[in-house]
Amino acid sequence: MNTLLHVEALTKAYGSEVAVDHVSFSLNKNTSTALIGPNGAGKTTTLSMLAGLLKQTTGMIALDGVLAADIRKEIGFLPQYPQFYSWLTALEFTEMTAKLSGVDAKLAKQEAIKTLEFVGLSSVLNKKTGTFSGGMRQRLGLAQAIVHKPALLLLDEPVSALDPIGRREIMNLLKKLQATTTILYSTHILNDAEEMTDQLLFLRKGQLVEQGSLKEVRKKFENPMYKMYFQDSEEAAQFVEASPWPARQEGSIAFIHIEDAKPAMNEVLLELANSHLQVLKVERASASLEEIFLQVVNNV
Ligand code: ATP
Repeated sequence: MNTLLHVEALTKAYGSEVAVDHVSFSLNKNTSTALIGPNGAGKTTTLSMLAGLLKQTTGMIALDGVLAADIRKEIGFLPQYPQFYSWLTALEFTEMTAKLSGVDAKLAKQEAIKTLEFVGLSSVLNKKTGTFSGGMRQRLGLAQAIVHKPALLLLDEPVSALDPIGRREIMNLLKKLQATTTILYSTHILNDAEEMTDQLLFLRKGQLVEQGSLKEVRKKFENPMYKMYFQDSEEAAQFVEASPWPARQEGSIAFIHIEDAKPAMNEVLLELANSHLQVLKVERASASLEEIFLQVVNNV
C-alpha cells in the first residue's frame, strides 16, 4: 500500500474552543505535504497530535495501518521552537536523542555524527549548543528529528524564523530527505510550499478547507484576467462601460476575467483599438500565491 499516514476526523477541543475540527487526510509514502494556514489555524495542534505529544479529543491516526499509540519511534518531529540543553555539545545532544528515539546505544554516536554531517554541522560537533545561531539551531533541530531515520518527518514552520540563506539551506536538506522519508511541514507562506510539495492542506479555524496539489489549487483559484493600464481612471471607466465582456475597474486599470480561455487576447486588443482610448499596457495576469492563500483562508 502506498499510504503511510491516515488521519480520520482528528479533533482537539479545549473546553468549548475547537483547535482542530474533524480533519481527515492521507499522506503517501515518500511525498511531501505542506500544512498551510494563518496564525491560530491549528497547524501546531495537528502536528503535536501526530507527533504523539498531545492527545486528540477524538479521531484516529494510523501509520502504515498501525494505530497512533505504537508509532512514536517511526516519527521525527521538529517543533516550531526547538529547545536544547545549552551545556551539551551538538554531538552529545544528538547522540542522546538518538538513544531516546530507539537507536541501538552502540550505534548512537556513529549515527549522530553521520546525521550532523548531513545537516552541515560536522565542523561544530563539539561546540555547546548554547552558542549556536538561529540557522545552526534549526539544523540541529532537524538532526534530532531524523537521527533515527523515521518513516514520517513532521516539521512545524521549519523555515519561518530563518533568513533567506538559512531558508535555502533547510529547504535543500528537506528536498534531499524527501527521497527516503515522508514529510509533513507547516507554513503560513505559500511560496515556501511552492518549492517542495506534492500536496497542500489548507487549515482555517481548525478545519481543512481545501486540499490538492499545487497545480490543482492554482487552477481552481488562479483567477486569470487581462489587466489594461489606461492613462487615467476616466478612460478605464469608459472601457469598462463599453466592454462586451464582464469587466471591472480599479483606478486607471481595467480588468477582464478570463473564463474557459475566453476572450482571446486578440479580441481584447481589437476592442481596445476600436475604442480609441489611450491604453498604455495590456497584460495577462493571474492571482499570486499570496492572493491564492488569502482567497482560500478567508473566503471558503
Ligand atoms: P501559529 O501559526 O500561530 O503557530 P497554528 O496554526 O499553529 O498557529 P495552533 O497553535 O495549533 O495554531 O492553535 C490553534 C488554536 O487552538 C488557537 O486558537 C489557539 O489559541 C488554540 N489553542 C492552542 N493551544 C491551546 C491550549 N493549550 N488551550 C486553549 N487553546 C489552545
